Amino acid sequence: MKQKNKSSQIFPNADGSLPDGGRIAFDRFKQLMKDTAISRSIKQRTDRFALKTGRRPRILFMGTIAKTGDHVDRLVPTAFSQWGFDVDIHSIDQPHAQTARAAVENDVHAVIYPFDCSEIAPAAIARIVNTVAVASGKEILSVAWKHTAAGREDSNQGIEFDEVLSIDRDIVSGLSRLLDAFQARKQLDLDLKRCLEGVIAGNRTVIAKAITLIESDRPDHQQVADQLIGYLLPLSGNAMRIAISGVPGAGKSSFIESLGMLLATTGHRVAVLAVDPSSPKTQGSVLGDKTRMKQLSGHPSAFIRPTASGGNLGGIAQKTRESTLLLDAAGFDVVLVETVGVGQSEISVASMVDFFLMLLIAGAGDELQGIKRGILEVSDAVVINKADGDNFQRAREAQKAYESALSIVKPDSPLWKVPVLTCSSLSTRGVAGIWEIISEFRSKMNASGELDKKRRRQSLDWMWARVEEGLKKRFYQRTDIKPRIAELTGAVRKGSISPTEAALELLDLNHMPARNRR
Ligand code: GDP
Repeated sequence: MKQKNKSSQIFPNADGSLPDGGRIAFDRFKQLMKDTAISRSIKQRTDRFALKTGRRPRILFMGTIAKTGDHVDRLVPTAFSQWGFDVDIHSIDQPHAQTARAAVENDVHAVIYPFDCSEIAPAAIARIVNTVAVASGKEILSVAWKHTAAGREDSNQGIEFDEVLSIDRDIVSGLSRLLDAFQARKQLDLDLKRCLEGVIAGNRTVIAKAITLIESDRPDHQQVADQLIGYLLPLSGNAMRIAISGVPGAGKSSFIESLGMLLATTGHRVAVLAVDPSSPKTQGSVLGDKTRMKQLSGHPSAFIRPTASGGNLGGIAQKTRESTLLLDAAGFDVVLVETVGVGQSEISVASMVDFFLMLLIAGAGDELQGIKRGILEVSDAVVINKADGDNFQRAREAQKAYESALSIVKPDSPLWKVPVLTCSSLSTRGVAGIWEIISEFRSKMNASGELDKKRRRQSLDWMWARVEEGLKKRFYQRTDIKPRIAELTGAVRKGSISPTEAALELLDLNHMPARNRR
């Protein structure tokens, strides 16, 4: 039963006809999202989950991602991210094996299927449920999302879901049950030897879990991750590590799809780490969907892992560095790091890659693209994307403008003049030329010893980043200081103490041995 959805007619009846009640159910769901008591209650549970397991619950939502406006396929992922979940979105149009691979590579806890409220046919859902179960050894749960449970409650069309959620039921207890099931079902293997062997052998599942381990906030996970990185470090260093940065919509995913496919089809093994910003308020996020890298995500020589920037203290930069190294040691000879170009995070990403590529589009204006001089300074190449069709001429003009802007920026290396190039990621025109430039950069920097020097400098950056992270963590973990932090926060807010005085007192307290304050 394939049902065409419109915003006002979303839910098919049991007999397949479109009911007038569709809109009502949709509005009820919106109402549910606005219910602060429910949201708070779910958020508390996901926060507790994150504290216990070291990461936020992560789900892959099957949808028809092209939808815009009031559509359930947009609304449900947004709701879950507001409730503190990390949400990947995958399209039903993708081959099922690719969906299963995404679920494994992203190391999600569950795949959620909109059941009575989407145009996805139950037979298709049944096939994906099976494929994911086989690919994950039944570790990844299958969950049906129903908008209208009434009348169809028992009709799962023979599909054995692990859980059925619906707004007709108590959503809070449903999600609590789900989180408990996540914890029971999904365990990280902390056996260092097995982990190490799996990564070196290029085992996708082990690599995915090792990245989860690296990203985890739990001290016992971090301890194993640190040891793992220690062992992998000598095995790494062969990959070309490239950052692709640019504002949302510049075409980063399309460019990576283009470049990645060019490389994967010419004997390279390509890994992609895509960093997506999390909501600072809920910490949940809707992660960039792999469906934009349609071909690459299905290629046997590729591995793609979107990561939420998260609320962790060390920041995403630290984790990205370690994941890059892991993928390098796992035998990927090109590691692409996709980051959203919004400033500070770029500079830190630049300090962990060999080549920083800034992707721009013509005619958006500098402010709009958030291009700070600092970002141009760390760029090794500037690429104007979407140089096709009507845009071709404007891309050429932008190229000239950036060439002149760059002429006053002091080059990082006397051996390298930062080139400004144009390309079309959609038609792939210019993409091969960009790879040639990257390869030329690599051989020049290799031959002169500059790449080696750069990497050693980056090791120092790494050390200091780790020190800063450790200092911060230790400070915030001091339970004896916490009450004073609360008092001083109030005092600064009231204006009864200066921010500097309060800061100095906290720093002094941090110097005292913890037991003296108990
Ligand atoms: P991202 O947010 O930077 O990852 O950007 P996407 O790769 O998702 O691209 C944003 C939009 O620009 C999509 O609709 C793409 O199809 C489109 N796009 C990307 N590259 C090109 C290109 O080279 N030419 C044209 N015409 N459109 C492009």
